[in-house]
Amino acid sequence: VAQSRVAVLGTGIMGSGMTRSLLRAGHHVQVWNRTDDKVQPLVRDGAVAAASPAEAVKGADVVVTMLADGPATARLMEDALGEMGPEAVWAQMGTVGVESTEELARVAGDAGVAFVDAPVLGTKDPAEKGELLVLASGPAALRERCAPVFDAVGRATIWLGEEPGGASRLKLVINHWLLGLVSGLAETIGLARALDVDPARFLEAIGGGPLNAPYAQFKGMAMVKGDFEASFPLRLAHKDLKLILDAARARSFDAPLAATAATLFARAAELGHADDDMSAVYAALRPAGEPPD
Ligand code: NAP
Repeated sequence: VAQSRVAVLGTGIMGSGMTRSLLRAGHHVQVWNRTDDKVQPLVRDGAVAAASPAEAVKGADVVVTMLADGPATARLMEDALGEMGPEAVWAQMGTVGVESTEELARVAGDAGVAFVDAPVLGTKDPAEKGELLVLASGPAALRERCAPVFDAVGRATIWLGEEPGGASRLKLVINHWLLGLVSGLAETIGLARALDVDPARFLEAIGGGPLNAPYAQFKGMAMVKGDFEASFPLRLAHKDLKLILDAARARSFDAPLAATAATLFARAAELGHADDDMSAVYAALRPAGEPPD
């Protein structure tokens, strides 16, 4: 595999793991992050720190954005786009929703920069191991240029057409399923405790049968133990529910479960769990009388 020059903007939970996967695959990686302390461990692993997004993207074949949301991504790329070379591709890999993806694609187009909508499925651990699933949409002519990067961070890439937006729409559909599962699980565990049923018995009873979900087992145990170390921060899960509701509303689709989940995530954030894992939505659903963690 040919070595690429890659810029990664945003080295949070996901961007850090992706950077290490890119380095392991032999790529040259320039990184930039708003908060410098997340960059230093990556420099020790072989990445090159850039002083600004504009500096990071200079000379890059592929620019990866892995920031919290669309507005932050738009702001940073405003300065950086003009520094990208004529053959460079912008792979936008954060979860920014439908409207922001369309806007970012438009901004890239105005600057003459090739754009691929490429959100990912998988969390902290798969990001570290290079085992994400990349959902990608964008011109077929760009696939070859993106392949070294997507192959390094992912176990597979699913291409979803030539128009940016298709991948982000599937990403929202997947996260709707995921966040519905986690919200439902939190209420189920709250109900178990309210009914004096040991939640571990519930997880044991569904384990191995058709009602099981491997995800329910480990997120369920996290809720039972009150172990909320972030793989997917609750504040970002809440952001995704808002993106889902915006996208549904734009197509006149009513999504009452997502609306309810969004209020639960907002309540858990208010209770101080914004930076904890999304499984801390349980805090919004624990039965009366149960002490907080
Ligand atoms: P994270 O650890 O919170 O990282 C967020 C990144 O965005 C950090 O680099 C942060 O910089 C940066 N950022 C936020 N606001 C900014 C601003 N206004 N200006 C400049 N930089 C800003 O989150 P993450 O889990 O890596 O998630 C990154 C993206 O991937 C999100 O869109 C998320 O929804 C998506 N995603 C996450 C997962 C997951 O399981 N964690 C899975 C799939 C997709 P600082 O370090 O300075 O705060």
